Formats: sequence, structure tokens, C-alpha cells
Amino acid sequence: SISLLFQKGTIGSMTLDHRILMGAMHLGIEGDRNQLNQLKAFYIERVKGGAALIITGGVAVLPEGGGDHMFCLTEQDHRDQLKELAEAVHQSGGKIALQLQHQGRYAKSSETGLEPVAPSPIISRITKETPVELSVKGIEKVRDAFIEGAIFAKSAGFDAIEIMGSEGYLLNQFLSPVTNRRTDEYGGDLNKRMKFPLDIAAGIRDQAGGDYPVIYRISGDDYMEGSTTREETIEFARRLADLGVDALNVGVGWHESRIPTVAATVPAGAFAYVVSDIRRAVDVPVIGANRIHTPEVAENMLKQELMDFVAPARPWLADASFALKAQKGDREGLNLCISCNQVCLDHTLGNPLLPVGCLVNPRTGHEWEWKIKEKEKSRHRQERYIAVVGGGIAGLAAAKAAAEQGHHVALFEAREQLGGHFLLASQIPGKDKFLETIRFYKISLDRLNVTIKRSAKPAVEELKAFDKVIIATGVKPYIPKQIKGANLPHVATYSDVLSGKVALGKKIAIVGGGGIGCDLASLIAQANDIPADVKSFFGEYGVKIDFPHHKDVTIISRSKRIAKGVGPTTRWVLLSELRRLGVHILKGFECREISQDGVWVRNDEEERFLKADQVIICAGQTADKALYDHLKGQVPVEVIGGSLDARNLNAARAIRQAYDLFYGC
Ligand code: SF4
Repeated sequence: SISLLFQKGTIGSMTLDHRILMGAMHLGIEGDRNQLNQLKAFYIERVKGGAALIITGGVAVLPEGGGDHMFCLTEQDHRDQLKELAEAVHQSGGKIALQLQHQGRYAKSSETGLEPVAPSPIISRITKETPVELSVKGIEKVRDAFIEGAIFAKSAGFDAIEIMGSEGYLLNQFLSPVTNRRTDEYGGDLNKRMKFPLDIAAGIRDQAGGDYPVIYRISGDDYMEGSTTREETIEFARRLADLGVDALNVGVGWHESRIPTVAATVPAGAFAYVVSDIRRAVDVPVIGANRIHTPEVAENMLKQELMDFVAPARPWLADASFALKAQKGDREGLNLCISCNQVCLDHTLGNPLLPVGCLVNPRTGHEWEWKIKEKEKSRHRQERYIAVVGGGIAGLAAAKAAAEQGHHVALFEAREQLGGHFLLASQIPGKDKFLETIRFYKISLDRLNVTIKRSAKPAVEELKAFDKVIIATGVKPYIPKQIKGANLPHVATYSDVLSGKVALGKKIAIVGGGGIGCDLASLIAQANDIPADVKSFFGEYGVKIDFPHHKDVTIISRSKRIAKGVGPTTRWVLLSELRRLGVHILKGFECREISQDGVWVRNDEEERFLKADQVIICAGQTADKALYDHLKGQVPVEVIGGSLDARNLNAARAIRQAYDLFYGC
């Protein structure tokens, strides 16, 4: 049971109702006055959803440390907006902390119009830019901007501030020997490398008032070769606590580090030990964040005394009532983050012009417009009978949206199980959480009294009885016509494999190097993995176990770039997994013909034969819209999801389309 999470807690002079905070998230709409209502609506829904404290996305203390769609404290209008935001949160009964940030060498000149600055001129892998080395005067200017930022936060009514000192941003850059090669008083041994962040923390402590709550977001481990050591991190944490910082929020990894921290394959609570290492060393409360995505995991963190507070971020995008539902014990009704990153971090880090949303929760980022539409709709609400055909994620979402709008809904699914492609994909390593989304939609439909008909293929006559029919019949695997031999018995589609229709061979050729082909390759090649507990058992006795692969998997990709459509936060993790599992990749080759014992492939220069006892086609999909074509003109009908557009299967788009039908935004 969940009980520890709902004990009161304190951070300095601030008392919090419980232990679940909302970690800082940049939404990509900050600073734009036209978006202020949306930003307020986003935060207010999370206050109402039970967040004990909201930490804002990073607010730049100086323009060169900011970026597109970020608040910057040198703009008077941004200050005014921040003040309004704090007031809005307070009016709805919440608490809010302002995060002070400077991106240093992660800032992009294309966004700021200014040269990025850093402790030393070391090129950033993220921006490909070499920052300008800060002068001592420059350092003092940044220090003063942080201090002044805290004073502003207090005067604007924020309940606390958080100093952003992790994830490889400016303060973290000063601490780390990887990015700080200075030879003056701000670089060299630990004392000198700590000077800048400690000066900032001390200045804030000194000038913002002795009891103004100050949180420092410290990097528990940079996961960068040659960076701050564990002992140094602990020493730094002690010094921060000694000079009066009220809590430490422990982040892990830099944006350029090559240890996944946000990928779906990272085990739950994986970084809790980094947090607890710091907790043991200090006597101020310690907050942990990464990969704490369910109330059970969070409760367990507290039970094991690994941390004092949790500050999940993405789980609040997936469900605005994360804490409230946990408190009510409504675990079933909780929409969980599936760590796909597709509509959140891939937007923030991949395309900052795209605002943050959430794949599993289409309301996120649209709270304001939805609220307005809901009001409008409720004025001329009309109950109708809606049939949804197809129980994949698009159909489930359409049924939920329709029922939420007060319609009578029947959902027809041809198979026994709901979930469609989402269910198939749940077998891919790291995608087991997709089952949680299917569970959430099923529960929601039950609660909304949607009639669910499984193994059902409704006849046209039956559908004619409804006021509207939504077709969400999804997709079928596409088999390129030009491939000879595609009908041989050892050729299967990804859907055959994932639905368990075919037994796998030993030497497997996967035709198609897109996201699905790569995912499938990683799933099949996992059979080559020796389970971790077996490995560690033999490891204890010094026995090396390393057996040759028994599944030999080759991906044949027409493009020179595989997994093209996979987002930036996930693609590199998938590629390194394929490497680790020994998957062969043939780039720039087209499959020409499949024979009894292999595959003929070619590019502009050569033709090759690849031995294979099984060929799996992952060459995309075609829309399954026969029913839609048939119904058109006979009944009012709409088509959504893969059955509308089969290119680049996109669950986020499918869910949005489903909601757009009934929320009209
Ligand atoms: Fe989680 Fe994906 Fe939603 Fe991001 S988009 S919050 S990772 S479910």
C-alpha cells in the first residue's frame, strides 16, 4: 500500500502536503504571452491533480544561457508572466518553485543570437558549437544573475527556487574536469571547480533571505568519462548542504552522455542508489527523479530510505492527476508514461519548436483550448450512438473520447484481444509498458460504459443503426511486389512473428531497416542474451560465460540510415543495443529476390547472396480501409489512425485524430 508518499514533508521553511513533486519540464511554449493561458492551465491541472510542489522548466538567468521558447529574466514581460504564473498556481491551492538555469555550452547561438559561453572552449556534441571561455568578470556577471534571479523569484511569490546544476548545464560544466580546463581560481582541483556553483548558492542563501527555500539540482553522476568522481560529488553535496541549501534534487547523466537515462529500457528506479549515496552524506532532504514512473516504485524508494521526496516529470504529462490517483488508490485509473519520449523529450531535444505533449495523453499541452471547447460543447450537447470499428490504440482513444462527450458507444474488435499494433509492439524490449496504456484505456471504457464487442466483425446493416461510425481498422503489413519469392513458406511478416504465428529460424534476414525492423531484430537477438542473474552467478566464481550467438540476425536496409523515424532520445540506444546483440546490418541494399535458402540483395555496384532460413518482411504497412470504402456514402463515417494514413505508424497522431473528432481541437 502507498502510505509513506503521503506523509507531510519539509524543505527548509516550506511544508509540503506529501512527497510527490513535479520535476522541472520545459514545455516549449514558455515566454510567449499568447501561450501564458495554456501554461497556466497546464500547471493548474497538475496542482489539482495533487502535485505537492511544481518546479518550473528552466528559466534563463541571462539570454546567452537560454534558448527558444524559454523564459529569460532579462525580459521584463517574462518576469511579469512568471509572476502571473505563480499567482495562478497559488490561487488553485498549489506551490511552485522557479528553476534558475544557464545552459552554458548547451545553448545554441541559432536560438539565442549570441555566442554560447562556458568555463572552457570545448565543443559541445549536442550543438556542435565551441563556446567562448568566460572571463572572471563574465563569471561574476552570471553569478550575480543567479542571485538576482532568486531575489526576483521570492518577490514574484514563488515558494522556492531550484538552481539547475545537473544534466551538463553551465554549473555542472564548471564542476566537471571534462568541460572545465581553466587554470585560474575557477578551474583545477575540486575546490576551484566548485567555486562558481558554491558562490552562487552562498550568494542566494545570503541575499534571498535566510529562510527562503533553496533546492540545488545536483548531478549525481555525469556518466561522462573523466568527469567528476563519486567522492568529489559527495564532497560537493556536503558543501552545498553546509552553506544552507535546503534540499538536493539529484539528476543523472548529461545530454551527451552515452548511458541511457530516459530510454524505456532503463530499469525502474535504476538511479536510486546514486541518490541514496548523496542522501547518506548530507542531512538535508534529498529528492530523486529518474525512472520513478509509478506510485509503487516511488513508495518503494521511500520505504528503502533511498530518498525523501520523488520528483517525477514525464508521469505528470501522461496523467495530470498522478499524485491524486495514487493517493486515492486508483492505480487502475492511472495513465502511465511509457517512456517513449516521442511527444515530450524528442520535441524538447530534437525540435524545440514543437511544444511538449504526450503520446498517451492527448490533452497534455492543450488543456486551455480543450477547456474552452468542453464548455462550448456542453452548451449544445447532443447524445448520439457511435460505433467504433477497431480496438487498436486509435479505436480505444476514439471510444473514450466519444463516451467522455456523453455519447453511447460500441467498440467492435475483430480479434479477441484489444490493443492492435500496440499490443504486438509490447513484446519489444522496453515496450512492455504499452500494456499499461491498453489497460488504462480498457478501464476507462469500462468506467464510461462503452460496450465492447470482441471477435466481432459488424455487418454493414448493423453499423447503419448508428449515428456515426469511426473506422480504426489499422494497417496490414506491406509486401513489396517487386520482391520475388515473398510467398515462400519461410517468409513471414513482422505481424506474423509478433503474434506468434511462426516459429523462428536460426539465420534470419529482416527486410527493412525502419523502426519496426530494428525493434524486431533486437527482440529476436535478445535470445542471444545470457540473463543478468546467470551472468552474475558465474561472475561471482570468476567463470566467464560468452557463447556464440545462436540467432544470427541481419537487417537489410535500403536506406543508409537505419531506424530513421525513431526519435533522437531513443535511436542511439536502439542502435547500441543492436550492436551489443551482434545484429548484422546491411545498409544501402535492396532485397531483390527470396529463394529457398536465402536472399538476393543488391545496390548500385554489386549483387550479393545472403544465406537465411527465415526471412521477415518489415517493409512498412498499408492502410486497412476496405470497410471504410464500403461504408462511405451509406452511413456517416470517419476514418482515423493507420487506416487513414499508414505511413510511419504514429500512435500519437492516431490518438490525437481520435480526440479531434470529439473535442474538435
Ligand atoms: Fe511518457 Fe511518451 Fe508521454 Fe513522454 S510522450 S510523457 S515518454 S508517454
